[in-house]
Amino acid sequence: MSEVVDPSVPYDVEAVVQAVDVQYQEWLATLGELVRIPSVSGDPAHVVDVERSADAVSAALEVAGLEQVRQRDVDGSPPYVLGEWVHREGVPTVLLYAHHDVQPPGIVENWTSHPFEPRERGGRLFGRGTADDKAGAVAHAATVAAWLRTMGELPCNVRVLVEGEEEIGSPRLEAFLTKHLDELAADVLVLADASNWKVGVPGITYSLRGIAGVDVTLRALEGPVHSGMAGGAVPDPAIALAKVVASLVDEHGDLAIEGFDDDATPLTDSERARIEQLPDDSEALRKAWGVRPGVELAGDPNVSVFERLWRRPSIAVIGWDSHPIAGSSPQIVARATARLNVRLAPGQDPERAHWLLHEHIAARVPWGLELETTPVWGAAGWLSEPRGWAFDACERALRAGFGTDPVSMGVGGSIPFAEPFAAAFGGIPALLLGPSDPSSRIHGEDESLHLDDWRKLIASQVHLLAELAEAAPG
Ligand SMILES: [Zn+2]
Repeated sequence: MSEVVDPSVPYDVEAVVQAVDVQYQEWLATLGELVRIPSVSGDPAHVVDVERSADAVSAALEVAGLEQVRQRDVDGSPPYVLGEWVHREGVPTVLLYAHHDVQPPGIVENWTSHPFEPRERGGRLFGRGTADDKAGAVAHAATVAAWLRTMGELPCNVRVLVEGEEEIGSPRLEAFLTKHLDELAADVLVLADASNWKVGVPGITYSLRGIAGVDVTLRALEGPVHSGMAGGAVPDPAIALAKVVASLVDEHGDLAIEGFDDDATPLTDSERARIEQLPDDSEALRKAWGVRPGVELAGDPNVSVFERLWRRPSIAVIGWDSHPIAGSSPQIVARATARLNVRLAPGQDPERAHWLLHEHIAARVPWGLELETTPVWGAAGWLSEPRGWAFDACERALRAGFGTDPVSMGVGGSIPFAEPFAAAFGGIPALLLGPSDPSSRIHGEDESLHLDDWRKLIASQVHLLAELAEAAPG
């Protein structure tokens, strides 16, 4: 701590919010530059791009006026970018988190414009990483810059952490936290890697699902055989796999594994009441997801759609290997593999989930085929009670930034970062904010960011730093 700021000098939050508008084009350009870097953490071919992306984030944090901007890694992880402004006493230290790595683009031809060429259309910025989560990283820089360039100081102490391997499940995060905990010490955590309720309506996320999954391989043969000469006598591994996979869900598409979510944290009465108050947005969700007319939503219709999305497990088959249609010939394949992706309710143990998946499948393999299951992913969900000084401050800040009340919401997705981080600091409050919205198609093709909401998010974070400084318990 070099120089201590006089806490009695008042600051003009409205002037800082105006600065957000003045500086907006500059930060939009920074976001565009970041999106041009294909920082795909899951693809070894992009290692250098992830490093370039870390360098670009470092530069943005420097430009914003953060101090001690540096990159750190652990056990060969991609670079984490850190920066800070720690000059005040008697105010909380806020850790602002985002990540700079992205998912692969998927099928590039399915994008309306190139995934790594940011394009503005209809008030949205399209490109991989626009919403998830380069907008979060740049929002932190813009928030700090608005304060420092207007007031010359921040109302509370700030540390910034921008991770480079969130999209592969933050595998070295715990090791990183253990090694660098002193550099990250904070009283409250702000993660700008979640979703707003909908365009124009901010969200505060209080629950996340966990993630687990297995690759399931069934093998019948040494090698493929002629489907005419052997068909009728040799079992087809692809059909055997389809039977096994179909047994994982009931008639509604809900997971049908005995006792699977017995370890999920039950809803409290206040949470159930909160969920029941939410308007049934099924139609809006169908539209946002692009569900075709006539296609039913999955899940028990007697359970609210939000409870299904946030507080119950779900399963998807995200990959299937047998033989591609192109180049196929009339043969029975030797083996078939499916990658099962399971979202866990908060409270569920990923290792227990892997075990139950294996047990369920092993008991149902037809015709004596050889079975191999390999766990992929494993991260617990997260759940917190959206009450207390930090949540209240956050509600006020979002109301001020968006001009409307925020919604306390769960999210069906997973942020493996949330649980270990809050735990490493003894359960400090964690505030999960936008920048995405339900039509952002994060991880999908045509990912996009709603730009006006992004500007409102930055304005909200400007308010948030002041609100947290005011509200922190002595
Ligand atoms: Zn993300």
